[in-house]
Amino acid sequence: EGDSTKPVTEQKDKLLGGLLSAGFDEESCRSRYESALYRTTSPHKPSTYLLDRLRSYEALHKRCGPYTESYNKTVEKLRSGHAIEPTDCNYLVWVAFSGLGNRILTLASAFLYALLTNRVLLVDRGKDMADLFCEPFPEMSWLLPLDFPLNQFDSYDQKFPQCYGNMVKKKILNKPKTSLTPFMYLHLVHDYDDHDKLFFCDQDQALLQKVPWLIMKTDNYFAPSLFLIHSFEEELSNLFPDKGTVFHHLGRYLFHPSNPVWGLITRYYQAYLANADERLGIQVRVFDTGAGPFQHVLDQILACALKEKLLPEVNKREPISYPTGDRKSKAVLLTSLSAGYSDNIRDMYWEYPAVNGEVISVYQPSHEEYQQTEKKNHNRKALAEMYLLSLTDKLITSSWSTFGYVAQSLGGLTPWILTKPENKTVPDPPCFRDMSMEPCFHAPPFYDCKAKTGTDTGAIVPHVRHCADMSWGLKLV
Ligand code: GDP
Repeated sequence: EGDSTKPVTEQKDKLLGGLLSAGFDEESCRSRYESALYRTTSPHKPSTYLLDRLRSYEALHKRCGPYTESYNKTVEKLRSGHAIEPTDCNYLVWVAFSGLGNRILTLASAFLYALLTNRVLLVDRGKDMADLFCEPFPEMSWLLPLDFPLNQFDSYDQKFPQCYGNMVKKKILNKPKTSLTPFMYLHLVHDYDDHDKLFFCDQDQALLQKVPWLIMKTDNYFAPSLFLIHSFEEELSNLFPDKGTVFHHLGRYLFHPSNPVWGLITRYYQAYLANADERLGIQVRVFDTGAGPFQHVLDQILACALKEKLLPEVNKREPISYPTGDRKSKAVLLTSLSAGYSDNIRDMYWEYPAVNGEVISVYQPSHEEYQQTEKKNHNRKALAEMYLLSLTDKLITSSWSTFGYVAQSLGGLTPWILTKPENKTVPDPPCFRDMSMEPCFHAPPFYDCKAKTGTDTGAIVPHVRHCADMSWGLKLV
């Protein structure tokens, strides 16, 4: 351990306001306690109730986690296929699915659901979850053991016999005295149907409570809709008196980059970002088909940054500008699959002087060209870049992108969002300020469980609203 860093880590709030428990081995996961060195202290304090619940969750996880006596007992019954009564340990298995930004958001949502239902969260490691993240809970792994009897998760879909929505549809659950299966599968993927969406109803939650093992597959940040389930309301408002901080706290609690990823983050930060007076993050995610860069996207980024005064204008008539006052330095961290955007912006501030004399440097860590979710190094870089964006002072993100959502809420940043372009033209306005740092739930249900009719779930309570970047989405504010 480098002695030179020690006093600083001790001074800084290295347990993040009590969010993290002390006593982990620091060497095996440097990011856990070093992150405080790279971030300014969050102005958002976690509630003492949240801290209590996290500590009691940790105790539950330790008592029920992989290969404990309770775990072994319930897995044995799962193997035998017989119906089982709920035990003192009930579980939620999160299935690794979709892009990395999506996975991070769904895992946080799943953890919140586990907290609310007193379940133990176990993580399907997929290709690289274990490589990317440290263990978040003390003394007991969160990884689903490889010898867990159910593991063909790829084949789990809406038609799966134990899929909850499917069982409702086939009225299997209505028969009196049918004994429940020891496990059920929750299909919360964006293509889910009205039956699957009953997950968000009180009555259905009451039934699910009796099932010892729940397997969940989702690609959505469903936390906002949990706030509309009556039976969770009180607990949620105790956990999060400040509703717009759910991912901010849970994300900082759960997601500690593994040492290889932390190396990518810290080396990059120290080399390119640490010494600037100010840091601006620009996250460019283009959902159009075809290879970028696109001229209209470049024009839009600049239009946004100049209009919102996040970057200075350049003077194209003078070779050199003579500003009065301090010469500030601003480092721009731009992330994108394509290299073209940062090249152009960097050239602009090389070829012409900034009118206010600011010294602008532009950096882009990687340009991977296309999404390669199955590759280890690709995802390490993706995580490093989300995290680096979260360390900036101001942030521009792209509409609809979970990659940007992770960065903004980890960083506690309310971003400027680039309006989604139509017909390859620069939208007007090019960007707008978001309402909160929370991620958007892209595929929420629109159902009133009591009245059994459709309803606008974005108009029920003031803290669950439609997203600014996706009109049908829901987010916490
Ligand atoms: P979303 O599709 O924008 O919601 O974000 P996801 O993270 O779920 O999926 C996009 C994936 O594409 C990422 O996980 C990366 O694999 C890749 N990707 C997209 N943008 C970038 C980027 O700026 N940098 C890197 N390194 N990868 C990116």
